[in-house]
This record gives sequence, structure tokens and C-alpha cells, in this order.
Amino acid sequence: MHQSHQSHQSNSVSCEVSPSTDAAPTSAQREAGFSTRAIHLGYQPQDHHGALVPPIYATATFAFPDVAYGGRCFAGEEPGHFYTRISNPTLALLETRMASLEQGAGAVAFGSGMGAVTATLWSMLQPGDDLIADITLYGCTFSFFNHGLARFGVNIRYVDMSDLNALSAALQQSTGANRVLYFETPANPNMRMVDIAAVCALARQHTAKVVVDNTYCTPYLQLPLVLGADAVVHSATKYLGGHGDLTAGIAVFADAELAMHVRLYGLKDMTGAVMSAQDAHLIMRGLKTLALRLERHCDSAEIVAQALEAHPQTEVVHFPGLASFPQHELAKRQMKRYGGMIAFELKGGMQAAIRFMDALKLITRAVSLGDAESLAQHPASMTHSTYTPEERAAHGITDGLVRLSVGLEEVDDILADIHQALDQLRN
Ligand code: PLP
Repeated sequence: MHQSHQSHQSNSVSCEVSPSTDAAPTSAQREAGFSTRAIHLGYQPQDHHGALVPPIYATATFAFPDVAYGGRCFAGEEPGHFYTRISNPTLALLETRMASLEQGAGAVAFGSGMGAVTATLWSMLQPGDDLIADITLYGCTFSFFNHGLARFGVNIRYVDMSDLNALSAALQQSTGANRVLYFETPANPNMRMVDIAAVCALARQHTAKVVVDNTYCTPYLQLPLVLGADAVVHSATKYLGGHGDLTAGIAVFADAELAMHVRLYGLKDMTGAVMSAQDAHLIMRGLKTLALRLERHCDSAEIVAQALEAHPQTEVVHFPGLASFPQHELAKRQMKRYGGMIAFELKGGMQAAIRFMDALKLITRAVSLGDAESLAQHPASMTHSTYTPEERAAHGITDGLVRLSVGLEEVDDILADIHQALDQLRN
């Protein structure tokens, strides 16, 4: 099989970089903070005609100086790029930055979040292995487990991972040669949280690997690898890109060998779920403002969640920043801030949810999340329609649930739209 062995973990940045948190400098070697690495890591303008922005390598293939060199590339003996489905310098730069931001040892870029989820798990699991997944998952991930992995002989088991006793029992009962635990936190769509450090500690006792979907938080708000996870997957379509103009995915690994396995000997090259260089460029543009955007998403979501909770038409608001949120203490411990996602239920259930959503004027009725535009969607009929009604009931996804991605508009305008839509429910 063809291989490429270039190192993607260049640490060159104008000040010395070590992949850690924004700690104060302790010596002449300054540590670069999150946004500095997001903007500068791995790129020197002087090496590229002074171009401030890294060039987009819009090329499918790369010329070999001679036949012997090409042969060495395919044998994995040359570090260069030779075909973009395998690797590309623009993608490699994004992978370097994401590995640093997530504090991992290596990253692999994909054409969508589902590309990252499927290629990572297909690379980590064999027939006869056990995948233990949390009960609340993005609909297509749930569908992939049941209709994709299960068909290839992987045993799938769903456990409420916020219940450590239930998880411990599931691990004890697990008979597969290999065990992988998979969860989202906060989970799409109902914001249930999982204690990453506690689950990883339990997993280690049972030699299980842990994969966390960090799409809702991004590394700015939460660092699963630091808390003990083996891999993090992202839909970069969301906050990382941040502008709703691309689909992309990224997986980051604690162990460079696992990253290489997913890239070369696993399924990344084979599934062909490859990110384009143009999309990698747009995500790197998104990363430059990730911290700023997330601060604004978080500020506004806190205000919107409080307003929703205070409104007489709402039954319950699921937002980690609310004191009433059952896992508020865990959120304080595990997340830097509470994120930009809110789920809520209205008095009057599903009919009220539909009337509310149809009355929105500024907030767009659309799936996806993490964009500048505020987006509202109805999981039961949209993102989580891959679940049967019985599965939704069992997995805590109620029919009346509305999911809101709080955007970057003026928060007063978002609030005004929500209030006018809620007022319509009184008629
Ligand atoms: N993970 C989560 C939590 C998601 O919300 C999504 C998409 O909505 C995905 C994964 C899949 O990402 P993509 O749509 O980029 O394939």
C-alpha cells in the first residue's frame, strides 16, 4: 500500500511553542497561548515569499523529480507529499494546529465529521470487538453504529455513561478482545454530560480506549485528551469552520502511532473521506477567531438560556451554565465555559415546539450549529429522525425538544425573536 511518512507536528512559531495551556512564561522560552498557536503554528511567512496567509496547495498530485523518488514515496521512505488523498501541505498545517490545540500527538483531517467518526472507529475496531457507546448521540453516528459497525461484526452496547456504575457493569460484562468507549459531551441534542476524567479512569482499568466527540466544545472549551481520552473527533463543519460554508472533520489522537495507523494502515486513505485544501484553508481562517467567537457564543447563550428559563411558556431548559442543570458542577469542572448550544422544551410539547419554530423570524430553521447565524432545529423530526420513536424515548430525546445554536448576532435581537415567537404560543 502507498504510504507517506511526513511529520505533521512542526512546532515553528514566532515564539517557542509547547503544546500546553495558556500558562505564564517560566523561562526565556515563552509558551504560546491558544490563539497564538491557532494563528501562527507551523508557518513562517518568510519561507513563502512573505505571504502572510499560508498558500492553498490546490493540487491533486505532486511531481516526482525521478522514478526512484516516486517509488520511495510509495514505499514510505520519503517524507514528501505525493497525492492529496494521502496528504497535502495545506491539510498537514491544519492537522499540526489542531493537534496542538487539542494537546494531542497527531491529527488527521477528513471530508466531514462523519468521515472522522467512521474512519477512526473502523481503524480502531475489528470484528468481535465491543463498542460501548453513550445513550445520547448525534443521529448519523447512532445510525453508523447500528447499520455500519454492527454489520461488520462489532458488538454495540449503549450505556448511560453519566452513570459510572452502569458503565463499570458494562465493561465487566464485555467479552470482546478490544473495547472502545464512545461519547459526546455535552451530547447532541439534549446536552447530557459525561465526566470525561472518570470515564477514562474506568476505561484504563479495563484496557479500553476512549473516543470523545468534542464538536460542541472545541478545544477552546474542553480538552478530552488532557483528561485521559485516546482520541477526539470533530465535525469541523461546526465551530471550527464557524461560518457554515463547508463540511469537514478532524480526529486528534493522544498517541502518534494511533494517528499514523488511522492515516495509513487504517481507513482514512481507503474511505477517501478527504478534506479539500480549500476547506482546510477556510478552517484555518476559522481557527484564527475561534476563541473570540466562542467567547461571544458563550456570553449570548448564557443570556438566552436565562431568559428562556424565566419564560412561563418553557417547561425545561437544558444548558450547562444554569444552576438548575443537573450536571452544572461537572460542567464547571470540565469546561472552560458553557458553550453556545441550548436545548429546551415548551409547555405544549411537540405542537408548541413546531409553532414556536415556525414563528421565528431572525433565527434560521436549519440543522448544523456553531455558525454566525443562530440556528434552531427539531431533533425528533430532523437530526435524530434516524432513531425510532422508541429509541428516542429510551435515549432521552423527547419529541418536544428544540435545539438552539446561539449565533453571533446582537443578543438583544436573538432575545426579541425568541420572545415574539413565544408570544405566538399564547394565541
Ligand atoms: N458529531 C456531532 C456532535 C454532530 O453534531 C455532527 C453533525 O451534526 C457530526 C458529528 C457529523 O458531522 P458532519 O455533519 O460534518 O459529517
